Amino acid sequence: MSDINLMELTKKAEHDLADIFADIDDIAYQNTERVIDSFRTHRVDDTCFAGTSGYGHDDRGRETLDAIYADVFGAESAFVRHTIANGTMAITIGLYGLLRPHDIMLAITGKPYDTLEEVVGISGQPGNGSLADFGVGYRQVDLLSDGSIDFDKADEIIKAEASRVKVVFIQRSKGYLDRPTLTVEKIGEIVKFVKSRCGAYVVVDNCYGEFTETREPTAVGADLIMGSLIKNPGGGMAESGGYIAGTARAVELASYRMTSVGVGLDGGATLGMNKSLIKGFFYAPHTVAQALKTAHLAAYIFEALGCDVSPRWNERRADIIQTIRLGDPKKLVDFCKGIQAASPVDSYVSPEPSPIPGYADEVIMAAGTFTQGASIELSCDGPMRAPYIAYMQGGLTYESGKLGVLGAAKRLLGNND
Ligand SMILES: *Cc1c(COP(=O)(O)O)cnc(C)c1O
Repeated sequence: MSDINLMELTKKAEHDLADIFADIDDIAYQNTERVIDSFRTHRVDDTCFAGTSGYGHDDRGRETLDAIYADVFGAESAFVRHTIANGTMAITIGLYGLLRPHDIMLAITGKPYDTLEEVVGISGQPGNGSLADFGVGYRQVDLLSDGSIDFDKADEIIKAEASRVKVVFIQRSKGYLDRPTLTVEKIGEIVKFVKSRCGAYVVVDNCYGEFTETREPTAVGADLIMGSLIKNPGGGMAESGGYIAGTARAVELASYRMTSVGVGLDGGATLGMNKSLIKGFFYAPHTVAQALKTAHLAAYIFEALGCDVSPRWNERRADIIQTIRLGDPKKLVDFCKGIQAASPVDSYVSPEPSPIPGYADEVIMAAGTFTQGASIELSCDGPMRAPYIAYMQGGLTYESGKLGVLGAAKRLLGNND
């Protein structure tokens, strides 16, 4: 493998990827147009960048950004807050907002993301206040072996307990599972399937999916979508935060869980964060395009180096995650070290596997990021379990993403300089 000429391989990769890169630019253009149109409609101006304190009443920037997210995501309503600590918290707010004792949450795309296990109550200590502790039932329909939805199994469960199924939960992105990511079109099919059978809310963990296509799941009928601002929609600018968007009633219920019943979105000091959140949303379509190009390049290069990769270099994307199956713990560690060493921040740090709260296995993470843990910035992580898959994502600029990918490739080839 070490006689591979990386320079030549990269040149060939970029030549072969030219049409795909052009498509990605076109998606970014269309999404930017929708963002700018919405900024114009809502008359974004300097007054939006001022912060509020205390109760945060009459915060024009906050209210404007809420309206812009709703517009751009094709939703009736939305809220965006820097005080939402991460994606897990955004999803938790949504689930607790909608589910009541004796209701059932039906996960239709297999097990939800690792950090949600304790929220749902499929792992963790009883008594911590999981949904299970509150008497919310949980049913799971695993994906079929080809990655498609098991509609027959879901149909059985809905038929048996239609009046209790309150939330049908979809995870758009693969997360830490070796499965395909759902396209928005596919999510639309699930929405139709659910709505023709019962009155459940369709709730989507939208992490990593935003702006990879020209519409979001809310545009095809999802009742609620949630995500993290240190991933796609923060555009690499937001210092922290999360968002929830969806139908007016579902968003209202979520807002009551976030603040208080009755208070909802009536307040919430922004402390000077508005500008970075608004500017981040402006950048997000472009930043996501940079990350997508980085992912395609990585797929091409590592496939050429003999790894199983998903998606493949020429496959369309519905999220920014690239998995590279390394098959060996040392290679996974080496890969992460290569990414880390090429990063703009903390390049001298050498990542090691360690336990992370909310995750069952040890995890290794490479993240030389301006914003701690931001995975819209080039980053890579993987649970230390077979088959030792690196989940790589992000890249604020294609150029820096490319440097990271080549850094990891050199490491795997045994060239450590
Ligand atoms: C990142 C992510 C989450 C939330 O994770 P946080 O680290 O809490 O932001 C949830 N689901 C998926 C699929 C994710 O990728």
